[in-house]
Amino acid sequence: MAPTACGIKCTARFLECAMNLPALLDQIHTEAQALYGKGRVADYIPALGEVAPRQFGMAVALVNGGMHTVGDAQVPFSLQSITKLFTFVIALKLMGEELWQRVGREPSGAAFNSIVQLETENGIPRNPFINAGALVITDILTSRYAHLDYALLGALRRLADEPNLHWNPRVARSERETAHRNMAMAYFMKSHGNFQNEPELVLDNYCRQCATEMSCAQLAQATLFLANGGRDLALDGQPDELFLSAEQTRRVNALLLTCGAYDAAGDFAYRIGLPVKTGVGGGIVAVVPEVGTVAVWAPELDAKGNSVLGAFALERLVQLTGWGHTTL
Ligand code: GLN
Repeated sequence: MAPTACGIKCTARFLECAMNLPALLDQIHTEAQALYGKGRVADYIPALGEVAPRQFGMAVALVNGGMHTVGDAQVPFSLQSITKLFTFVIALKLMGEELWQRVGREPSGAAFNSIVQLETENGIPRNPFINAGALVITDILTSRYAHLDYALLGALRRLADEPNLHWNPRVARSERETAHRNMAMAYFMKSHGNFQNEPELVLDNYCRQCATEMSCAQLAQATLFLANGGRDLALDGQPDELFLSAEQTRRVNALLLTCGAYDAAGDFAYRIGLPVKTGVGGGIVAVVPEVGTVAVWAPELDAKGNSVLGAFALERLVQLTGWGHTTL
C-alpha cells in the first residue's frame, strides 16, 4: 500500500492516482474558466436555455472508493443524452446480442439528431447513442416496463447509492412540446417495422428519461461499474455486486469510445482517448478502465452539442494524469 497525496491508500493497481488529484482538479477548474463564453447553452429545448451558462463542476470517482470534486460538482443538471448510456445498458442486460437486430454499432459521423441515414439504412439507426438509436432503445424498454421512468431511476439510484434522484417535469414537458424531429424519426422507424409502440408513448418516456437530473458526483459514482469490470462498487464494505458482465462492460466501453460524442467521436478519441458519453445539458462522463470515472458539467456547448469546458477539462486531466495512455 502506498499512501498518496489525495490521502487514499493505493495498491499497485491504483498507482495512477498516486498524485495530488485535488490540486489537479483545482488547476483544471482555474484553466477552464478562461473558456467561458466560447460556447452556447442549448436552447432548442426551451427549458434548457434558461440554465445559467457560467457553471463548471467536475468529479472523479475511483474504483478504490475515493471521490474528488471541484466547483459545481454537487449541482444537479439535466443528463439529456447521457441517459442513453444507461438505457442502453439496461436493454443490453435484457436482450443481449439480439439487440443488434434493432440498432447498429457504427459511428454515425452525423449530428446527434440527424435523420438522413435512416432513409438509406431502412430505419435501423447507426448506434444506440444518437437520437434515432436511443429512441429504438426506449421503444424496447417501453415494451418491457410499464413505468420506464421508475425503472431507470431505480437503476440509477442503486448505482449512485442515492435515493433522491428524479427527472425534471418542466424540462421533460418543454422537450416533449418541441420534439417534432424526434417524433418524425420515431414514425419513420415505425414505417420500417423497427418500432413496436406508439411513437407518442415512446416520446413521453424518452423526454422524461432525458430530463433526469444528477450532479457530477452522483454521475461519476453511477458509472463506476464501467471502470470496475461491471461490478457496482459497494460503499459499505460489502463485496461488489455484478451489474453487468465483464464482457458486456468491455463492449459498452468500446461503443462509448467510438460513438459516445456523436459526430465529434473521432475528435474526442484523439483529444481524450477514453470512453465518453456527452449530453446537451453540458455534461460528459468518461471511463478510465480499472481506475475510475470522471463526470464534468459546464452548460456552454460547441457546434456539435458537446460541452466546451467539459471536453477541455477531460483533455487536461488525461494530459496531467496519463490516464488512458495504457488502457487502449
Ligand atoms: N433530449 C435531447 C434530444 O433528443 C438529447 C440530445 C443530446 O443530449 N444530444 O434532442
